[in-house]
Amino acid sequence: MGGLKGEGLGKSSLPNVATDTRAGKTEPRRLRRRVRAGRTLAGLIWPQRSLITHRELPGPGALEPGLWSKLTFITGQQCARCGLPFEIAVEPDQVCGACLADPPAYDRARAALIYGDISRDLVLGLKYQGRRDGLGMLSGWMGNAGAELLAGADLITPVPLHYFRLIWRGFNQSGWLAAALAQSSGVRLSVDTLKRVKATPIQGNLSADARRRNVQGAFKVRSSRLKLVKGKRVVLVDDVLTTGATAEACARTLKRAGAACVDVITLARVAGPRTATI
Ligand SMILES: [Zn+2]
Repeated sequence: MGGLKGEGLGKSSLPNVATDTRAGKTEPRRLRRRVRAGRTLAGLIWPQRSLITHRELPGPGALEPGLWSKLTFITGQQCARCGLPFEIAVEPDQVCGACLADPPAYDRARAALIYGDISRDLVLGLKYQGRRDGLGMLSGWMGNAGAELLAGADLITPVPLHYFRLIWRGFNQSGWLAAALAQSSGVRLSVDTLKRVKATPIQGNLSADARRRNVQGAFKVRSSRLKLVKGKRVVLVDDVLTTGATAEACARTLKRAGAACVDVITLARVAGPRTATI
């Protein structure tokens, strides 16, 4: 199991990940009854609320059934480098035009969802409302999407926030996702390997070039974490992949510090190629 170091995650250090029930087969019957009773009581005190509408849900789950169908999961063939979904069948390990013309600094990127109305609300709920109750589900989707990347990984680390933004917001949502993904995958977690040394403006509707300039020189590997990175396969975690400028800046920094490979796993990505913006 990956070490859950709390540093850098913000005021609530440990993620609220779904309880693991795999031990259920071996635990005594009395204990199982107590756990069930505890969950029922917890459900009465803190009823499950939709991650999007905040309405109380009648049963277990995090979304109303009607919203599930509006999510677009990335399941088919995709660019071997940036994870862009292909609309037609292609050869395995096919790379998209953007990656052929200008290969990204990271090795591979994978995302669970296409960034659309509902996935945007999931990201905003996590980022601005601190909805940690969905972390188990969201990181589960990310774990499925990035299973191949996680299989050979040595380290999971999030895209960091600048210190001032971390203080202002109180937490780093990418750190929460990284911690939940490390817990479910068993890959070692370090939430503070990367440091954002430049307070960059919010990328908003900046063009791909402007985003690249915006994050140039914005990251550093902490000297105390160099040993974790050198010669290792690192998985970088973020909430959304847009042009990938931030992920590329982090990947370049990690590779300069000696990382053997840098892969990226995000909750969502834009539907278009790497030059698109949200
Ligand atoms: Zn690509």
